[in-house]
Amino acid sequence: MQILARCPECDAGLPIGASEAPDRITCGRCRREIPLAWSPAVRSDGAVDACPVCDGPDFYTRKDFDPKIGLTVVVFGAAVSAGFYWFGRDLVAYGILAGAVLIDLIIYQMLKEVTVCYRCHTEFRGAYRRTAPAFDLHTADVLEQEYERRIGRR
Ligand SMILES: [Zn+2]
Ligand SMILES: [Zn+2]
Repeated sequence: MQILARCPECDAGLPIGASEAPDRITCGRCRREIPLAWSPAVRSDGAVDACPVCDGPDFYTRKDFDPKIGLTVVVFGAAVSAGFYWFGRDLVAYGILAGAVLIDLIIYQMLKEVTVCYRCHTEFRGAYRRTAPAFDLHTADVLEQEYERRIGRR
């Protein structure tokens, strides 16, 4: 599974491969060292049961929007298809455009859900089974405050 850790200092997103399971990472923006504790389930992409950054066991699942990837595919498809259109190959042009939209849909399906840590907002993506419930504002309020007190933000 792929993890996007949030730096407790500056909120930078730090991508980590869970199979490599490094002991610690250094934030590329503020140079803060972040120790990491990996549970066997997270390492093996089995489940998200404990957050490697903050140790918290509380997560929620949300739709994973990555408009950048989708847009790139459609823009690329539109550019290629415009080229064919220019040379009078309308059918090929429409075909490519439809293909790009289709690829976009497939990508959307693949990136369907992401698990997020309530406390430190670290994101988890992988083939593991999604067990976390949907986002709950009250839980988020309580756990975020607890975490921010712990890392000395409040
Ligand atoms: Zn940082
Ligand atoms: Zn966390």
